[in-house]
Amino acid sequence: MSEPIAPLAPGSTIGILGSGQLGRMLALAAARLGLRAHVYDPAAANSPAGQICDQATTAPWEDTEALSAFAAQVDVITYEFENIPTATLDLLGAARPIRPGRRALEVSQDRLVEKRFLQDLGLATAPFAALDGPADLEAALAKAGAPGILKTRRFGYDGKGQARLAEAAEAAAALESLQGAPAILEGFVDFAFEVSVIGARGLDGAVACFDPGENIHRDGILRSTRVPARLSTAQRADAVLLTGKILNALDYVGVMGVELFVTPAGLVVNEIAPRVHNSGHWTQNGCTICQFEQHIRAVAGWPLGDGSRHSDVEMENLIGDDMDKLPAIQAEPGAALHLYGKAETRDGRKMGHVNRIIASG
Ligand code: AMP
Repeated sequence: MSEPIAPLAPGSTIGILGSGQLGRMLALAAARLGLRAHVYDPAAANSPAGQICDQATTAPWEDTEALSAFAAQVDVITYEFENIPTATLDLLGAARPIRPGRRALEVSQDRLVEKRFLQDLGLATAPFAALDGPADLEAALAKAGAPGILKTRRFGYDGKGQARLAEAAEAAAALESLQGAPAILEGFVDFAFEVSVIGARGLDGAVACFDPGENIHRDGILRSTRVPARLSTAQRADAVLLTGKILNALDYVGVMGVELFVTPAGLVVNEIAPRVHNSGHWTQNGCTICQFEQHIRAVAGWPLGDGSRHSDVEMENLIGDDMDKLPAIQAEPGAALHLYGKAETRDGRKMGHVNRIIASG
């Protein structure tokens, strides 16, 4: 599919695969730019994105008729999550440009492919070994070491599909808990703290990165992000440069999240997400152009905007019964509240987030 050269005109339609909160915030950003959004998801009706976008198609990923009709109604296609079936992408990609492209999805859908890709770029990762079954266990432990984390190669998110091993003796049971799914064993990285870079690359190849944010996770789920991160000037430059390297290697168009461990020996790449990212939500209130607008600009073929940070910000996720704090947050005049429109609060479910500008110095 050849790429249209001209930027999409206002009134054009961005197709979004997936209808969660990231799709919702992408659709809101598209609306601000005079663009329309059409989401496609097996559960689009009344979803966070479905509630607010111009059009929503509720149909399975395998429904070729619905997919073709969707493609015919949109000008470009993007996505808010990475586990889209390959056959779906083949069908859609034949009709419309998909941005970011296939390569980014292939790399990020499989932790083993992702780690090899990063290593080939000369970037540091956790030591790792592929694990297809109990027979590989001994060799994997010898290569990746223990303590470590067993992760399914595919379909993991927010700490799901993972088992931690304090010592090698726990490995067999941990592997069993993954129920035979192909996995990788990662050696545990002894990091000082975690940061992420939200990077963007335009259709013209221009690259722009937001200031790295410092992330706190609990139970494998992001709880908060703070900017600026406690990085030296050299570390900050490193983080941004390696993100640019990844974006260029993938000939990427759009916004990407790159999660990093900060260690005394340098930055170690944990994973990449080929989409807008939870750790970039602070940009909504800390930058003139937020990550959602930056992504829409990129996929629509517009020039990237200026994402420089004008304030120090702390983003706090509202997960599960964090929603009990809602009355207090509503009463806080400076709390920029972003709720996702999810009717039911569940344990571990991301319901919204709050951005607070913090006094610098
Ligand atoms: P992931 O789903 O791979 O992003 O992992 C979720 C969280 O688990 C990360 O943000 C880290 O806090 C932790 N984690 C994952 N992999 C490792 C590792 N190899 N060493 C240390 N901590 C890790």
